[in-house]
Amino acid sequence: MKVKKLTALLLASLMAVSMTACGGSPASGSGTGTDSSDANDGSAEESSDASGSGNEESSDNSGSDAENADESGVGGEDSGAGAADGEGFTTSVDGKLIMATNAAFPPYEYVEGGQVAGIDAEIAAAIADKLGLELQIDDMEFDSITEAVKGGKADIGLAGMTVTPDRQEEVDFTVSYATGVQVIIVTEDSDITSADDLLAEGANHVVGVQRNTTGDLYTTDDIEKAGLGTIDRYSKGAEAIQALKTGKVDCVVIDNEPAKAFVAEVDGLKILDTEYITEDYAAAMNKENPALYEAVNAALQELIADGTVQGIIDKYITAE
Ligand code: GLN
Repeated sequence: MKVKKLTALLLASLMAVSMTACGGSPASGSGTGTDSSDANDGSAEESSDASGSGNEESSDNSGSDAENADESGVGGEDSGAGAADGEGFTTSVDGKLIMATNAAFPPYEYVEGGQVAGIDAEIAAAIADKLGLELQIDDMEFDSITEAVKGGKADIGLAGMTVTPDRQEEVDFTVSYATGVQVIIVTEDSDITSADDLLAEGANHVVGVQRNTTGDLYTTDDIEKAGLGTIDRYSKGAEAIQALKTGKVDCVVIDNEPAKAFVAEVDGLKILDTEYITEDYAAAMNKENPALYEAVNAALQELIADGTVQGIIDKYITAE
């Protein structure tokens, strides 16, 4: 069956998660992430009451202690990103760890009280803490995260981002800290009952996805390019959900955890039991800043080993 074949292929490629960073000079961009995200639609999202948020969100979740520490005056040398334990990494802005994300992906990231909250925000805060850095979170389109990391505007892309071979050409991924599953959301009265229905000969469905996510990539290949239907691409998962609700699309393919959050908020929708594909989430980092990659990856590994990451995930995701 096609889905199985795809799963095997993807899993094989995920084994090749890059652990090495190639050489080159450290990134030295400046400023915060540019952003062109549109207004928060507020539709199905849990905590979208952050009024007027949605264009540039640049919240500082880590408190201001790092700022108060007189790091700025230390030394006079060019690097000095507040390196813990004397590690010689640099970040795009001295003393800060800038995280690029798309805060429309609950429970990994969402806006609450004007700040970006969620699993990834907490993991990033724990990494920043370990490295003696102040965390800054820049909210942008999912599409823009890789570019922000590549261009040195952000130090780390943390966005429930799946490791894929194509993305590995652009960025280095840390160890994986969570898994996701692509699921199919339909209306309760839908005649689509499994992934097979979408892939069957003669199928002709309109599938809603979030643009440039893996849900988009897989369905584009499996459905659109195979002549089995069309894909409608939205900039936010919640918008795809609204399209499903209003009958513009027949189903939505998206990661399981946001799927659960969306379905809990909108009546008349359900998640099919069949899974589309399983994948690994990791943080995306600049290939040309190996010292920072090593520091972040080591910090994340420690946080995984001591149970911190699992503790954060368990706060947001209750086992079924
Ligand atoms: N895991 C999916 C991907 O990496 C979706 C991530 C997201 O929308 N934040 O493409």
